[in-house]
Amino acid sequence: MIKSKKNGELIIISGTTCAGKGTVVQELLKRNGNLEVSTSYTSREKRDGEVDGKDYFFVTDQEFENMIKNDEFLEYAKVQYAKYYGTSKKEVKKLLEKGKDVILEIDVQGAQQIKKLFPETILIFIMAPSMSEVKRRIKARGKESNEQIIERFKTAYNEINEIHKYNYVVVNDVLEDAVKKVEAILISEKCRVDRIEEISLENQEEIIHEFLIDKNFENKPIEIK
Ligand code: 5GP
Repeated sequence: MIKSKKNGELIIISGTTCAGKGTVVQELLKRNGNLEVSTSYTSREKRDGEVDGKDYFFVTDQEFENMIKNDEFLEYAKVQYAKYYGTSKKEVKKLLEKGKDVILEIDVQGAQQIKKLFPETILIFIMAPSMSEVKRRIKARGKESNEQIIERFKTAYNEINEIHKYNYVVVNDVLEDAVKKVEAILISEKCRVDRIEEISLENQEEIIHEFLIDKNFENKPIEIK
C-alpha cells in the first residue's frame, strides 16, 4: 500500500499580466475537489465585482502593516502600484492540515519567499502566448490608463526574467490545454517518491498469501522427469 503524506502540498501559480492564471486556477478548482486556493490580503482598492473575503481580504495599509508586525504572513510583497499583497499563515495552515492541496496565486517575490521556507513547494509559471497577445488582452479589458498599462508591461518583462526560479512553465494559449498541463504536473508531483510517506509491503504479502490459500495452491517442488 502507498500512503501519501497527510498534509497537502503547496502549489504556487504565478504569471505575467493577462496570462489568464486566474481562469486557469478557477478551472482547476472546479475539476479537483482536493484543491483550495488561499485568499490573500491586500491593501489595494477593491475593484467592481470583487467580494471581500473571496477575491481578497481588503485591508488598509495601516492594518496590513500591523499584521506584518504581528507576524501573520507567510510572505508578503509590494506588488502593483506599491500596494501590499500577502499570504496569511493561519489560512494556509488550516487548509494544509485538512489535507488540502493549497494554491497560492502570488507574484514572483512572494514565490521566492515561500520557496525558501518550504523548498518542496511546486512552482508553476503561466505565460501568455506572446506580448502582443498581452497587449490585445489589456486593450480588450479597457480599464486602465496608459501609465498603468506601461507599468504592467515593465512588471511582465521583469517577471519573465525570473522564470528559471520556477519548476514548470505553462503557456496559456488554449485554456483547456493549459489546464490539462497543470493537472498533469500536479498528478506527476503526487507520484514523486519523496512525496510518499510510506510504502508498506506487508499488506501485499498477506494478500498474496490469502490468494494462494484460496486457490489450494500446493507448493510442490519442481520435478524434472
Ligand atoms: P491583482 O491586483 O491584479 O489582483 O494582483 C496583482 C498581482 O498580485 C498578481 O500578480 C498576483 O499574483 C499578486 N498577488 C496576489 N496575492 C498575492 C499575495 O498574497 N502575495 C504576493 N506576493 N502576491 C500576490
